[in-house]
Amino acid sequence: MRQLFNTVYGRNLVAEVPAVVFRPYVVITMKDLWPRFEEALTSPYLVEVHFVDSLEITDLDALADRLKADAVVGLGGGMAIDVAKYIAWRRNVPLFQIPTSMSVNAPFAHRAAVRDEGVLRYVGWKVPEVVWVDYDVIKSAPEFMNRSSVGDIVCYYTGHWDWKMATEAGKCEPKWPYDQAWVDEARGVLDSVLNAAEDIRAVNDEGIHTLMEALRWGGAAFSNTGWNPRPIEGSEHTFFYSLEYLTRRPYLHGQIVSLGVLLMSYLQDNDPEFIKGKLDAMGVAYQPEDMGITWEDVREGLKYMPTYWEQAGNLWYTVAVDRPITDEYLDAVQAWVSGDAR
Ligand SMILES: [Zn+2]
Repeated sequence: MRQLFNTVYGRNLVAEVPAVVFRPYVVITMKDLWPRFEEALTSPYLVEVHFVDSLEITDLDALADRLKADAVVGLGGGMAIDVAKYIAWRRNVPLFQIPTSMSVNAPFAHRAAVRDEGVLRYVGWKVPEVVWVDYDVIKSAPEFMNRSSVGDIVCYYTGHWDWKMATEAGKCEPKWPYDQAWVDEARGVLDSVLNAAEDIRAVNDEGIHTLMEALRWGGAAFSNTGWNPRPIEGSEHTFFYSLEYLTRRPYLHGQIVSLGVLLMSYLQDNDPEFIKGKLDAMGVAYQPEDMGITWEDVREGLKYMPTYWEQAGNLWYTVAVDRPITDEYLDAVQAWVSGDAR
């Protein structure tokens, strides 16, 4: 049995927090969320509420040195969850996480995504006492955001193809030899999500439960595989890193990764229609205009992948560097994704 984080699903979970968390406690959240939860989370044992305004390690270390509490409560989407994780790790105090949307697998992963002079780093090791998933809280987040979180699950589809191809081409990293057991396990998780497309589109209880259980598996997977990203990530993430490097702006992670899955499955010739049909059924907003970028940005991001891969130096061998990005491919994939090909 894999070590996955203790997760509880239900309703009205926030109201019980002051009665059960260790005392005194701090809440780490976002300024815009606090008015909704202030009444439920306030008690004589709440010593401070911190609104996240920085992910820089130097700022977070100063915060950790200052906050004196016996428990940390994280409440929010990605950022508050990561900062809560970091502070609880630095102070070695119990952590309680309350995700307010489905966006990334951060609540279920050991490391915190923080910044070191602007550069993304995943550091720390914190297993929460519990992750509380409140159906009504999740449903109050925008639907496009909740649905987008399938991105970090559907990427197994392209990632597994990359792993197999690299192995057959003799280009697979010796430290990460192809492991059918991991592929099968991840594929089971992927299928659970693909088979719940209608519930995920509706963001109903069943959809939330299915997707959160998948993110729960995926969040802990990087630790459980011994820091082997191959079962859970592939070329679609290389595309994202390349595009992010060129455009230097934030993205809703699952959204851009979903687009990456379409672009890479097409490049792989890996039944792209199948996975596009699933993303459409789930109502994932993967068009460039949904994230405020142009097709020109996307094309540049695709063309830059091999250069990015070289300069990063720590990315694994995938279709992103195995097949050339030709104008023919760019024209065809653009027409296919945007629906102009029909
Ligand atoms: Zn990801």
